Amino acid sequence: MPQKILVAVAWPYASGRRHIGHVAGFGVPSDVFARYHRLKGNDVLMVSGTDEHGTPVMVAADGERRTPRETADHYNAVIREDLRNLGLSYDLFTRTTTANHYRVVRDVFRTLYERGFIFERTMLGAFSPTTGHTLPDRYIEGTCPICGFPDARGDQCDNCGNLLDPIDLLEPRSKIDGSTPEFRNTKHLFLDLPAFAERLREWIEAQRHWRPNVRNFSLRYVEELQPRAVTRDLDWGVPVPVEGYEGDVNKRIYVWIDAVVGYLSAAVEWAELRGTPDAWRDWWQNPEARHFYFMGKDNIVFHTVIWPAELLGYGEGGELGARRGALGLPYDVVASEFLTMEGRQFSTSRGVAVYVRDFLSRYDPDPLRYYLTAAGPEQQDTDFTWAEFVRRNNDELLATWGNLVNRVLTITQRNFGAVPEPGTPTEVDRALVAAVDGGFDTVGSLIETARFKAGLAEAMRLASQVNGYVNDSEPWALVQRDRERAATVLHTCLRCIDSLKTMFTPFLPFSSQRVHELLGHQGQLAGSLAFADVGEGDDRHTVLTGDYASWVGRWAPAELEPGRPLPQPSPLFRKLAPELAEEELARMDPDRPAPEPASA
Ligand SMILES: [Zn+2]
Repeated sequence: MPQKILVAVAWPYASGRRHIGHVAGFGVPSDVFARYHRLKGNDVLMVSGTDEHGTPVMVAADGERRTPRETADHYNAVIREDLRNLGLSYDLFTRTTTANHYRVVRDVFRTLYERGFIFERTMLGAFSPTTGHTLPDRYIEGTCPICGFPDARGDQCDNCGNLLDPIDLLEPRSKIDGSTPEFRNTKHLFLDLPAFAERLREWIEAQRHWRPNVRNFSLRYVEELQPRAVTRDLDWGVPVPVEGYEGDVNKRIYVWIDAVVGYLSAAVEWAELRGTPDAWRDWWQNPEARHFYFMGKDNIVFHTVIWPAELLGYGEGGELGARRGALGLPYDVVASEFLTMEGRQFSTSRGVAVYVRDFLSRYDPDPLRYYLTAAGPEQQDTDFTWAEFVRRNNDELLATWGNLVNRVLTITQRNFGAVPEPGTPTEVDRALVAAVDGGFDTVGSLIETARFKAGLAEAMRLASQVNGYVNDSEPWALVQRDRERAATVLHTCLRCIDSLKTMFTPFLPFSSQRVHELLGHQGQLAGSLAFADVGEGDDRHTVLTGDYASWVGRWAPAELEPGRPLPQPSPLFRKLAPELAEEELARMDPDRPAPEPASA
């Protein structure tokens, strides 16, 4: 029975281009996971989109002298192209400015309010002493009261990840003119987080399969839950569906309350677009479905506390829920640590960044996916260096897997032109095939438990084992003196490569598709992704999607019938010159902000 798997991927802000640190956290791991489960025969729904409200988008728009909408339009297009080019196989990558998203967010918010989980309270709001006007969160910075980080933002500390209100900041300052904000009483709506504290604590404690950092951080957080403001003094965002707020153009729903609802609203939109408007319920109102969330560690509490509180409060709904079952809570919250760049924090303002777009203009996507999985920040912070990228491409990806495929296919194609008919296998042949086929269990269970680095290492170890077998049996010499035995050896190798190709598909979809074709197979093992224009009038927008149901391949040992013609092979990966590392470092001029891409 296929399992319903929701792959819920963090929503990148439409406030700038995404660099490789971003996709190391939310992007590549989620796609490895989704592709694996599709090969396994499970029903995957992978959703996300650009997060277009909130402070970062407004700050970017100010800097670019555009409206927030124009900035969001621009970066939504840039980001969705980058994600497609990296092969991230979303069922739907949409945006938070759609009519559908507004409808779902407002339903969730209104329901929480009607049930008493959202209430009004007077709080101290920030005002500019120079203009007398409201000073939105985005214009307030200060020192984090928890970790002492000097550049904490008004709503969150980027250093320790804790959520803040502007009033919490020590030595708060206006980003406009450096003046100290004045705090005066203003009315806002608050989410009653303490009402959920007990249920959240029990639930989180029971999640022993979570990564320890996620579980421990969340448990500490629920110990001190306070009501949290869920409206903001802004004119950009989802209008508040509560009397007294509805018509106020300067009050909007707090971006993090709106963005996490996107996991639900995107599923609803996906179902609508397919013409099966209730299909989302199979993932969301089905106790058997499992929900996996992927993000960087700075977003943990939104997914383990805020969003679960919204889900618990919403219960069976609301307009959307229609009392057809409670919405599912996260099954796993897979948070990555941070990637640094040549020993420094990524900083777009200081030019310390490699944008996905620039990277893919010079290199293929699979070597990047390989690097970010093998050396990425899965369980601890890691550093990206160009020298290490070149080394891993040449000495690991190309030397082990690329060479194995290339030399076996070249010898076979030259001498047989087709998959050769094997004779009786020896013990050694059988043992090799059994070892490789065992990878479907070992690599598979590592991916299922979000240990992607170990899963990839295991697949690479098996590829090395097949390389050792090729070295020992010397098929290039054997074919001259014992053609029948050479046929058996090469068939054994091809059969192993065919299985390994499947195991590598979640990690390296583009080159796995090549191997699939080089072995004479038909169909898309990991096909291309597509854009679709959807919606009407003002709601017209472009989504990233794909027809994954038609993809071939399954997570099981290969059956490679003899006689299948083999096309002319060509290398899977490019060898990179060691000088490239120096050239790339020279591109990173720390004094110069990165230029806008010409095509965007
Ligand atoms: Zn902090």
